[in-house]
Amino acid sequence: MELIVKSMPAEVQAQALAWKREGLTVGLVPTMGYLHEGHASLIRRAASECDRVIVSVFVNPTQFGPNEDLESYPRDLEHDLKLARECGAHLVFTPTPETMYLPGASTWVTVEGLTRELCGKSRPIHFRGVATVVCKLINIAQPDRAYFGEKDAQQLAVIRRMTADLNMPVQIVGCPIVREADGLAKSSRNTYLNEKERQAALVLSRSLERGREMLEKGETDVQKVLDAISGTIAAEPMARIDYVQAVDADSIEPVKTLAGTVLFAIAVYIGKTRLIDNFYWKV
Ligand code: AMP
Repeated sequence: MELIVKSMPAEVQAQALAWKREGLTVGLVPTMGYLHEGHASLIRRAASECDRVIVSVFVNPTQFGPNEDLESYPRDLEHDLKLARECGAHLVFTPTPETMYLPGASTWVTVEGLTRELCGKSRPIHFRGVATVVCKLINIAQPDRAYFGEKDAQQLAVIRRMTADLNMPVQIVGCPIVREADGLAKSSRNTYLNEKERQAALVLSRSLERGREMLEKGETDVQKVLDAISGTIAAEPMARIDYVQAVDADSIEPVKTLAGTVLFAIAVYIGKTRLIDNFYWKV
């Protein structure tokens, strides 16, 4: 099947509805493009579980703060189309801000509580933009399943909450973090790093590995684990901590003790580039 590329929401919605009428299942993989192996793993998973796969490529302006990297965010549509096709996508949706947000648009989806901690602190409008655009993408693509990476664990929790709260008939599928061979979590933003910064960025995965080892050896004091993670990061001169936190994986409320699934999550500036990483610890 030829890869379909469309930029108008109504066209994508018509195509999705036509597939659904034929009895085909639809999977959606929302992305901001500049696709890498992390995105590829989501698209492949969707292709293995759904009859038709829609990948959206949209650098969504409403989830960027005024001093963030909206303008400089890397873009390469030709590469994205090739990778999406190779991974089994059937349609790539490439809207523009103008086609996604009509003049006079005034509706927002706000997920409260879960957006207070972690990235919500330093990126106050981020999750409102994410929830709104993902809600729109789901309404457009009409998917049976939508695929998100655990790399953005808070985003995954927010989307699960939103779809449950709003009775959206879609199954949210979380997919494991894909890493470089040396441990750095794959991210489109890794391209901002120069050689020295790229080396320094290894402190994210290394510090989390240290925390995980402590837990594996039986440490139950959450604060001790957080201190070890922070200490490892602090020893890297090019790194500046935004947050190092342990939260409940579903509610994103800070936890002091291990219970249920705890998300150990960090955000660290390496030079000007803000990177995130995490792991889940199930008790
Ligand atoms: P982005 O294009 O960065 O907005 O990411 C689009 C989707 O890909 C999100 O659901 C991310 O969580 C997911 N993703 C990004 N990087 C990775 C990775 N290294 N491993 C797994 N999923 C990822």
